[in-house]
Amino acid sequence: MYQADSNRYQSMTYNRVGNSGLKLPAISLGLWHNFGDVDQLENQRAIIRGAFDMGITHFDLANNYGPPPGSAEENFGRIFREDLKGYRDELIISSKAGFYMWEGPYGEWGSKKYITASCDQSLRRLGLDYVDIFYHHRPDPDTCLEETASALDLLVRQGKALYIGISNYSAQQTEDIIAVFKELKTPFVIHQPRYNMFDREIENGLTDMLAKEQKGAIVYSPLAQGLLTNRYLKGIPADSRAARTDSPFLDKDRVDASLAKVKQLNQLAQERGQTMAEMAIAWLLREDTVASVLIGASRLSQLQDNVKALDNLSFTASELDTIDKILAD
Ligand code: NDP
Repeated sequence: MYQADSNRYQSMTYNRVGNSGLKLPAISLGLWHNFGDVDQLENQRAIIRGAFDMGITHFDLANNYGPPPGSAEENFGRIFREDLKGYRDELIISSKAGFYMWEGPYGEWGSKKYITASCDQSLRRLGLDYVDIFYHHRPDPDTCLEETASALDLLVRQGKALYIGISNYSAQQTEDIIAVFKELKTPFVIHQPRYNMFDREIENGLTDMLAKEQKGAIVYSPLAQGLLTNRYLKGIPADSRAARTDSPFLDKDRVDASLAKVKQLNQLAQERGQTMAEMAIAWLLREDTVASVLIGASRLSQLQDNVKALDNLSFTASELDTIDKILAD
């Protein structure tokens, strides 16, 4: 029987999401990779237990996480049922709908038909009555915002979700849907964009807009899927994401293209007394709207390294300048 560490709330920091009542751990765990049926259940269990033992109260999922799609929710659901059920009120569990999930015209994007059916499927796979946050995973160019927003709003009215989020929406798309949420009085609180040292797109308008609207961000792929760690400094290990055939977004070319900058960043991290991953996470948390950094991990030791980022979150102006210069070169 799993018993959570009694010291789990001693060292984690919890940040308020915008001006909402919701607080998230500064570091959250995402289950996009490493939690499918192709991955070992006992390793998944060790990561999830270990995360909660360190005060990581937030676990992020989506309908399509696996592979196969849906299996990450099923595996988390099983571990939740066996280990974490007694801690439900200490957990923030999220899911999403938006990407392709099933065949036919109702299996992706942003219609009311898809969103309501997908949320019901996710709840069944997870074995939950409700999720804490439900996201629209990507904007739908063909469905009007009013329909998508009211479908999300309905999930809250039905008690299937407590809070609503959006992901991968541009600043303008975010502003537009916020206007609808305001009319509906939907508890929309959070945006989930990609943000890391190699992808600073959200600095071009989105973070300012979220700050103006008093909304928060939880940022994904903070380590650029592992590039911003010491994982690839000496080649591509066989057990790394870049070597996996089910990981189409990270390959040898991307590793090679990033290496020169990563080596320079790693040098700076060492001077700060941090690992590369710790510095990359700390750097994201300097941004006020970022309530949480949503990391992935293939083993518990990575998570244990990454939470050490919280021991040194401050940067001198000269360090920030050096980082900007390395990234710009
Ligand atoms: P990261 O950028 O954190 O990459 C995670 C990978 O980095 C790990 O699997 C591991 O790779 C490597 N890593 C992590 N820590 C260390 C360490 N200390 N030392 C060495 N290597 C390390 O995030 P992800 O891309 O996995 O995304 C995180 C989460 O964000 C997802 O699980 C998901 O919840 C969410 N997400 C949301 C999206 C959206 O559209 N809304 C899109 C993508 C992600 P390895 O496997 O090689 O060990």
